[in-house]
Amino acid sequence: MFVSDCLQINEKGHLTVGGCDTVELAETFGTPAYVMDETTIRENCRAYKRSFEQYYGGNGLALFASKALNCLEICRIVKEEGLGLDVVSGGELYTALKAGFPAEKIHFHGNNKTRDEIKMALESKVGRIVLDNLYELTAVDELAASMGIKASVSMRIKPGIDAHTHSFIRTGQIDSKFGFALETGEAMEAVKQVIACRNIELEELHCHIGSQIFDMDPFVHAAEVMMDFIGDIRKQTGVTVECLNLGGGFGIQYTQDDNPQSYDRYMEKVSKAVKAKAEQLELPVPFIYLEPGRSVVGEAGITLYTVGGIKEIPNVRTYVSIDGGMTDNPRYALYKSGYTCVVANKAGLPAAKEVTVAGKCCESGDLIQENTKIQSPEIGDILAVLSTGAYNYSMASNYNRIPKPPIVLVKEGKAREIVRRQTYEDLIRNDI
Ligand SMILES: *Cc1c(COP(=O)(O)O)cnc(C)c1O
Repeated sequence: MFVSDCLQINEKGHLTVGGCDTVELAETFGTPAYVMDETTIRENCRAYKRSFEQYYGGNGLALFASKALNCLEICRIVKEEGLGLDVVSGGELYTALKAGFPAEKIHFHGNNKTRDEIKMALESKVGRIVLDNLYELTAVDELAASMGIKASVSMRIKPGIDAHTHSFIRTGQIDSKFGFALETGEAMEAVKQVIACRNIELEELHCHIGSQIFDMDPFVHAAEVMMDFIGDIRKQTGVTVECLNLGGGFGIQYTQDDNPQSYDRYMEKVSKAVKAKAEQLELPVPFIYLEPGRSVVGEAGITLYTVGGIKEIPNVRTYVSIDGGMTDNPRYALYKSGYTCVVANKAGLPAAKEVTVAGKCCESGDLIQENTKIQSPEIGDILAVLSTGAYNYSMASNYNRIPKPPIVLVKEGKAREIVRRQTYEDLIRNDI
């Protein structure tokens, strides 16, 4: 019935997550609150590992794209599950290191790394720095030289694949701010410059074609294009790049309209394509990295709110206002993302009332969902928005000086906070 296996309805007709009654969670921890199911997160990590073992002889590693959700406890869980981590800023790297994440399993991404961030990445000995442009190349080479080390790098390539997804989360085409373009020859030129650098080792090529993708063909196509490029590099330079990073982007279920496929199907198709290309081009079968973000944590999370005012505008629509909004979930405002909303204390009743769920910020665009059906709402109800585990907490802001909600981790009927709710005192902490 719901978008995620960790959600059920109990005998009181309340929505439960990870065996916890959401109405009780709202009483205990207050609203708004993010709730994450630990079992689902761990199960998703394991599914990637199993898939690599089953279809690719274990010759690969999933790196959790931590921009989807980064805090100490999530880093610890991912570490325990044996995945690597992809970070895109000094702040994400700092968090991962503080959580005790092994630096050699961290890849450092980003389209405009500052010199300080590159220095931090090199000093903390991250496994790989993913070069996005030639300015970064110069900085990495100089800094590595001054430290007397050789930096292990990857290069972000735009493979020229059009993934069918929202334009703001599509990244594989020429008109993208990320990476080196293949079609124009820019990528090959850059590869030659990288190979010529004495303080740099080119060990990997990377591509990431976009996010929330359901169609398998663009992924397979990207893998083939990247293998061809590895073949071309060897022909032109004699260098064999041994690792291929195919990025993330697997779609999840936000609403009944979304039909995600299993990672197994992805892995089966992609590994077949990669192996076939390796044979055809007489290349070694590469070590493969994947970078799932959304698909590891998205469906594991929900957000709980309390319903405040309800405005029925005759012949227009009914606004249901909640005690959060774009500050804790900016995705509808950014991309018009679909979400499933449920009145948690009436979850067993039919969703018969069409409403627009509005936040409390001073912006007309502060909406969570428009014209969606929920159980008949009343003031004081608990509203749950499903599949908010990815790109919600990590995109949260303090607009209107609204404190960020806590993250509550649930597991088999037990709940604990892993991120505290911000206080008003926190809001003025850096004010002078
Ligand atoms: C955002 C991003 C990911 C993760 O994408 P998901 O859609 O969350 O799986 C992986 N790699 C890179 C380089 C990214 O920018």
